[in-house]
Amino acid sequence: MDETPIYDFRGLKALLQHKGIRVGKAEPWREINSEEVRLKEGKLEFTDDGIYVDDNGIKRQVFLYKRRYKLQQYGKPRYHVCKCSTIEEFLVNDRDIPEYRSANVDTVKVLNWDNFNKEEEVSNLPLCKNCAAKLYKYRNMDSSEFAEILRNAASAKEPPKPKVEVDVNGYTKDWQIISSSFREKHNYTCEKCKVQVSPLDSAFMNVHHKNGDKTDNRSSNLQCLCVKCHSEINPTHIHNFSTPSKRLLIKLFEEKYKKNDLPF
Ligand SMILES: [Zn+2]
Ligand SMILES: [Zn+2]
Ligand SMILES: [Zn+2]
Repeated sequence: MDETPIYDFRGLKALLQHKGIRVGKAEPWREINSEEVRLKEGKLEFTDDGIYVDDNGIKRQVFLYKRRYKLQQYGKPRYHVCKCSTIEEFLVNDRDIPEYRSANVDTVKVLNWDNFNKEEEVSNLPLCKNCAAKLYKYRNMDSSEFAEILRNAASAKEPPKPKVEVDVNGYTKDWQIISSSFREKHNYTCEKCKVQVSPLDSAFMNVHHKNGDKTDNRSSNLQCLCVKCHSEINPTHIHNFSTPSKRLLIKLFEEKYKKNDLPF
């Protein structure tokens, strides 16, 4: 998996500053992965739209979750996106011990109380009910989807990447070839629901860009999904798949391949 950035933004920034060009706070995306926070220490900033940590002078939006949890007994801890009544209550209580962790990534680490506080990796945390009531727009989102939004928002603020030639839909010129060979490599099988379609029905299989960047065709960023799973992967996709032609495609797919799943 090649994670090397195309170029180092810090180097670019220094160069621009050297040339007398003012560079704002544009910084590359950096992950905040399961970092301990003391709510009372003042390193967190709570605003109307979220929770921010100070990362060496850069404000980064994060979510919070309980650092230690009985994963077997209670399932996944909930994640918080704002100063909800649960967090408020915690701030009022006079305990200044780290009980929460901050993150902006898909998979986080939780100390499993049911297993000798072993660090375990958890993703798709459910949203805190009180946060959902306060920030309604996140109500159907799990922490992994929320992390994707944060990542996309951060990259939107970054300096423009070198231009890649794209078509009207934002895909690279070689996308058709990449997409069909990726679907073939996955035997036309959905990575979510595991349904397999005939190669003749490859139109029912899509290739999804996990980080939302349609020009990022590294295979680590791609996912082979059936139209149904793809249409439900996040709120943007739910919206994009609500056109009559997309609905029809999903209907045809379900009629042919999802018969056994129907509730009758
Ligand atoms: Zn909350
Ligand atoms: Zn599927
Ligand atoms: Zn997609």
